[in-house]
Amino acid sequence: MHTTTTRQIQEWLDGRAREMTALLERLVAVESENPPGRALGRCARILREAMDDLGLSPEIIEIPGAPPDLEEPCIVRGTAGDGDRLLYFHGHFDVVPAQSDRQFTAVRRDGKIIGRGTADMKGGIVGMLYGAAAAKELGLLREGRIVVHLVCDEETGSVVGAGHLRDAGMIDPAAVAMVTGEPSGGSIWNAARGAISLRVEVHGREAHVGQADRGVNAFQHMLHIARPLERYAAEMAGRHTAFPMDPDDAPGTMLVVGGRSGGGSNFNVVPGSAYFTVDGRYNPEEDLDGEVERLTALIDEAAREIGADVSVRVTQLQPSASTEARHPAAATLARVVGEVDGAQPRFEMCAGILETRWYAQLGIPAFGYGPGRLDVSHGPDEYVEEAAMRRAAAVYARYAGEMLS
Ligand SMILES: [Zn+2]
Repeated sequence: MHTTTTRQIQEWLDGRAREMTALLERLVAVESENPPGRALGRCARILREAMDDLGLSPEIIEIPGAPPDLEEPCIVRGTAGDGDRLLYFHGHFDVVPAQSDRQFTAVRRDGKIIGRGTADMKGGIVGMLYGAAAAKELGLLREGRIVVHLVCDEETGSVVGAGHLRDAGMIDPAAVAMVTGEPSGGSIWNAARGAISLRVEVHGREAHVGQADRGVNAFQHMLHIARPLERYAAEMAGRHTAFPMDPDDAPGTMLVVGGRSGGGSNFNVVPGSAYFTVDGRYNPEEDLDGEVERLTALIDEAAREIGADVSVRVTQLQPSASTEARHPAAATLARVVGEVDGAQPRFEMCAGILETRWYAQLGIPAFGYGPGRLDVSHGPDEYVEEAAMRRAAAVYARYAGEMLS
C-alpha cells in the first residue's frame, strides 16, 4: 500500500515536472543576495503567487523592527490541510552573493538546473511546495496540516526571520516534526553545529612613520593577540564529534581566525586601530557560553601581556541542534527516504549551522533533507538535478502522509 502511495505521489509530481522547473527558474532570476539582502520582497511575492496557485493559502508576514539593510524583509507562510497534528516545512529564499551575474539566469543542461540558489535552497523550496500540494491533493493529510515557513535571512544568521517566528510564538512546540529542504546530498541531517563569531578591535595611537616611536602599533598588538587564538583553533579541531559526518568533512570544531581583518589609515602611518574576526562552527558536544568566555579570556590575557587596548564583540551566537537518530520521527523519515530513493539514507551531522535549531530548541524533532549538495551550493557552478528535486518533493509528501495520519 505504501508503494502505491509513493507511486501516486511520483506520478502527480512527474505531471508537474515542467511547472516545477519553471518556478525554480523564476526564483533563480530574483537576485535575493544576502548580504546585503536585496529583492527579498520581490522573491516573497513570487512565492506567494506560486503557493496561491498550489492552494497553500499563503500570507506574507511583515517583520517589525528589521534592520534597514534588508530590502522588504518578510516571512511567507503557507498551509496545507486543517487537522490538529502539525508538521513544519521550513526554508529560506535568500542566497549567498553570486560570483557572476550570469548565475541569475538559470541554465538547464543534462537534467540539471544551474544557477545561484538552485541547491541552497530555492530547489528545496520548490520541492517542499509541490510536496505539500501533492500531499493535500492526494488526500494524505487526514488528521493534520503542513505549515510552510519561508524566511529571508538565513545566510546572515536568520535572527530576523526565524527569530521572529520564535519570538512571536509562531512555532508550536507541539508540532510532530520539522524538515528543512537544505542540500543534504541524500543523507538526513539530524544534527548541526552551533556558531560563535567575534569581532576583535585593537586600539593604538597613530604617528607618522618618521616619528613612529610616538605611536602605538595596533597591528603589532593584533598579531600578538591572534596567536593564542590560532593555538585554540588547532586544539578545537582535535576535539571530535561523536555524530557521524560526511567522511570528507573534518569531525573537529572548526575555527577561522582572521576571516576578515584590517586597520590603519595609510602605509606611512603607525596604525592606530586594527581589527580581525574569529568565526567558529562548534560541535554539539561543546558548551557555547563557556567557549565564548574562554575566547574572551585568551584575548584579554594576550592583551594584558603587552599592555594592548582591546575590545571584543560577539556578533553571532547560535546554538547547535540535534535529534536522536532513533527518534520515531527520524526513523519514519529514513524509511520514507529509503522508499523513494531505493537506498537507506545515512544520518549525519551537518558541518555548518542549520535552521533546525529554532525548532529543536523547542523540543521539536528537526531534520535537514533536500536536493542538491552542500559542496557545490555556494560556488560558481551551483546546480540541482531536476529528478532530485522531484524525489525530495515525493519524500516530503510521503513523510507528511505518514506523520499526519
Ligand atoms: Zn541554505
